[in-house]
Amino acid sequence: MKQDTQGTMVPNFIGGREIELASARCLPVVAPGTGERIARVPLCGASQLDEVVEKAREGGKAWAATPLKERVQVLFRVKSLIEAESERLVELITLENGKTLEESRGSVARAVECLEYASSLPQIAPGRVLEVSPGVECREVRHPLGFVAGITPFNFPFMVPLWMIPLAIGLGNAFILKPSEQTPLSSLEIARLLKRAGLPDGAFSVIHGDREIVEALCSHPEIRAIAFVGSTRAARAVYQLGTRHDKRVRALGGAKNHLVAVPDADPEMTAANVTASVTGCAGQRCMAASVLLAVGETEHILDLIHEKMSRVIAGRDIGAIISNEAYERITGYVERARVEGLLRLDGRGLVAEDAPSGGRYLGPCIFDKVPPGHETAVDEIFGPTLTVIRCRTLDEAIEIENSGAYGNAAAIYTSSGGVAQLFADRADAGMIGVNIGVPVPREPFAFGGWKDSRFGGGDITGASAVDFWSRPKKVTTKWTSEHSTNWMS
Ligand code: NAD
Repeated sequence: MKQDTQGTMVPNFIGGREIELASARCLPVVAPGTGERIARVPLCGASQLDEVVEKAREGGKAWAATPLKERVQVLFRVKSLIEAESERLVELITLENGKTLEESRGSVARAVECLEYASSLPQIAPGRVLEVSPGVECREVRHPLGFVAGITPFNFPFMVPLWMIPLAIGLGNAFILKPSEQTPLSSLEIARLLKRAGLPDGAFSVIHGDREIVEALCSHPEIRAIAFVGSTRAARAVYQLGTRHDKRVRALGGAKNHLVAVPDADPEMTAANVTASVTGCAGQRCMAASVLLAVGETEHILDLIHEKMSRVIAGRDIGAIISNEAYERITGYVERARVEGLLRLDGRGLVAEDAPSGGRYLGPCIFDKVPPGHETAVDEIFGPTLTVIRCRTLDEAIEIENSGAYGNAAAIYTSSGGVAQLFADRADAGMIGVNIGVPVPREPFAFGGWKDSRFGGGDITGASAVDFWSRPKKVTTKWTSEHSTNWMS
């Protein structure tokens, strides 16, 4: 991207204050729906990170010493603020990301669920106590780690940060957010909402930038843990650099999700479901259906999917593609598939007449009769495209699914419980759907894939995230001499 000198500079949020770096190296922030430049985002480096840590140190310590039941009061209050002001947030998300208002509403609702889960920390993670020998008690309490960081992608600028922040700060850490440089605006709103909800200065900071600041976060000596969500290439790099610097790292990467349709699937439900999964967020979500493995006599289902997808119009039913670069990359796959005779539905023509001319819109595309191993069958395209591979048997479909590099989500459409069970048992992915195209495991279940979709153990939300953002301390105590002595005495 070219550097830009126009537009308001998005401030960092440091020590509870919005700090604008007027003369910093920067990039333009472009609204995908219209192509308008709406701001500039600074590209910070290690010295700005030192400033964040310096200004947050005292506040962070005070926050860590605040009792858990008091800390979660901030989460209750921020939930109320988000609910009261959700339409304003929804419009901001749509402006900077380009998704539809309805999709932005859904992402705010999911963020609220994460806040609800973290608000129950006193109930789900209160610590434990046990008499381990006569008169000897062992008590386990959770301690915060100190400074921790979250690095997030463009596609859910409000929700993905809130997968991390509520648990991390609820458990007493000082959190530093590095949002996508393509969608930096929602992060500032999160900072403002947390401050209004009573979060002390220093417990939450935002620093903007690109790869340089990510590398500074991964190697900063005071940052103890890093959660990352983004592409597999970056997730692997963050995992390797962060762990080399002795940090806890949990890095979620990209996806190539397979859906399987078998002949006994309900045609109407399957077609509606597959269409929604492929086209929602214009295909720019890690849970989107990307490959359909059509087993046996499923021509009638494929025809119905084609019909439904051809009625989805970009700029009316689905939102914009994030950037010109992304649009060029996606349509490169479309054009090459056309030349190869694999393009069944060309979404380049499925764009609303009144869609803003500066926006980047692409309707749904279907690649059909694609051989396994083709670029549209293995690459993460991250647009509204569906690759159809015809399979003779369910075994063949499962083999293709399991041979992929990614393991985020997989789903099957069937009316047979036995077939569904077999698929759920054998599919090599962390999140499985049965007649569900976007099988997000909502709280209290945790979100996370397998294989190249995740580096580091555990999930990004749920119980294992509670462990990730905290460290247990065990205190063993004996107060009286009445009890007999043993090896613990
Ligand atoms: P991205 O990897 O380009 O960027 C994500 C973050 O990493 C950004 O903050 C960016 O500044 C930073 N970054 C980019 N390149 C980097 C590098 N080489 N080294 C260090 N940091 C780097 O991803 P994106 O385009 O913003 O988001 C889309 C990707 O995110 C897709 O691959 C999608 O599947 C994935 N994603 C995954 C999940 C999940 O839960 N597994 C959820 C949402 C998005």
